[in-house]
Amino acid sequence: MFNAGAECASAAETARLHDARLRAQLDYVMAHSDFYREKFAAVDVGRITGTGDLAALPFTEKSELRESQLAVPPFGRHIACAPQDVRRVYSTSGTTGRPTYIGLTAHDVGVWREAATRAFWANGLRPGDRVPLVVSPFVVAASYADAFEAIGTSIPIGVNMTDRLIDAFRFAGATALLCTASYPLHFARALEERGIDPRSLGLRRIMAGGEPGASIPEVRRQIEQTFDCTLMECSGNGDYCAMTWAECEHRHGMHFVGQGLIHPEIIDPDSGEVLAIAAGVTGELVCTSLDRECMPLVRFRTRDHVQVTHTECDCGRTGFGIRIIGRTDDLLIVRGVNVYPAAVRDVIAGFAPHTNGVIEIQLHEAPPAGWEPPVHILAEHGDTPGDLGALAQAIEARLREKLIFRARLELVAPGTLPRYEYKAKLVRERYKE
Ligand SMILES: [Zn+2]
Repeated sequence: MFNAGAECASAAETARLHDARLRAQLDYVMAHSDFYREKFAAVDVGRITGTGDLAALPFTEKSELRESQLAVPPFGRHIACAPQDVRRVYSTSGTTGRPTYIGLTAHDVGVWREAATRAFWANGLRPGDRVPLVVSPFVVAASYADAFEAIGTSIPIGVNMTDRLIDAFRFAGATALLCTASYPLHFARALEERGIDPRSLGLRRIMAGGEPGASIPEVRRQIEQTFDCTLMECSGNGDYCAMTWAECEHRHGMHFVGQGLIHPEIIDPDSGEVLAIAAGVTGELVCTSLDRECMPLVRFRTRDHVQVTHTECDCGRTGFGIRIIGRTDDLLIVRGVNVYPAAVRDVIAGFAPHTNGVIEIQLHEAPPAGWEPPVHILAEHGDTPGDLGALAQAIEARLREKLIFRARLELVAPGTLPRYEYKAKLVRERYKE
């Protein structure tokens, strides 16, 4: 445990801490943020005594933050500190146009480091581990580096620098890697092309973040066998906190490890109703900052759809566990049925080793026409796919059975589709090209 006092606190202790911090954070927000003063004008914020009253406050949408920055660049009306106190600025990849900028004060940098350090420690990173940093700066790489350095060693590499990454393992004693679930098999192929056995690399631990997939047993087994390593899942978000969820060695799901820093809620995405945290519950994750100076967020809708996996664990951590099911932003509605691209990928990855889990959903027309079945999906086959026609038919049948929509599956050679080291883009809007 990196911080047992926080991560193993009883439910009552955590609730007391979160109530007190929420009160202080709301006082701060009302004193310093024009955005929230206006947003909460009709609410008696003084009557909110703890997290149990959060439902009285409206949600914060990503689109509001974007508009706030367009109106008052560069930080927007939601900045709550003096501009000269901003020490680090991240941009989040604007999937729709212009990026948004996220500022951190020196204090915020420390808070994000603390959360990420707890997460990577839960994932099994230990002193002596050396971790090449290959993720793009878009995705808060500096906070990951801070956390790697709080535990072991970081080795900055850069994005798409495969040979330098390989050298970090061969010559600089790297032991672990943070990447997406789809990256390791791509990396294995790059190694094999260079005549290097992936098992000889000394890569002992892969921390797969940013997307679902690592939790699919077939995918996990294949990656672990290829590298002779352990694969652990972790997750966070550039808006609310770099890294706040991580699997422990029991691997039931990703524990919440942001006690005292972030308050998570799970809501019904349609009604906005707060759902009680219990194993099996699914809904959208909503996060409230508890200790943030530059851009505190209150009830931020993450658009991540999650399922609660467990609320107790033998490791002693008390934070509940989740798996990410998908993101509302990517949601396709095929004849009235909600289809998460991540779920499509999971089904196709379930055919490993005949498939390698890399897919791209092609939208040839703007929705809703573009969502009409059969939905065109490209998927890479594995190295030994067998009969391609039969495989495509079997995948189409399983998609129909599990996700209730009709697809036209086109199998392509491994290495054909684009690779992403962090969040994979699963939907390609061909009509915009
Ligand atoms: Zn655990």
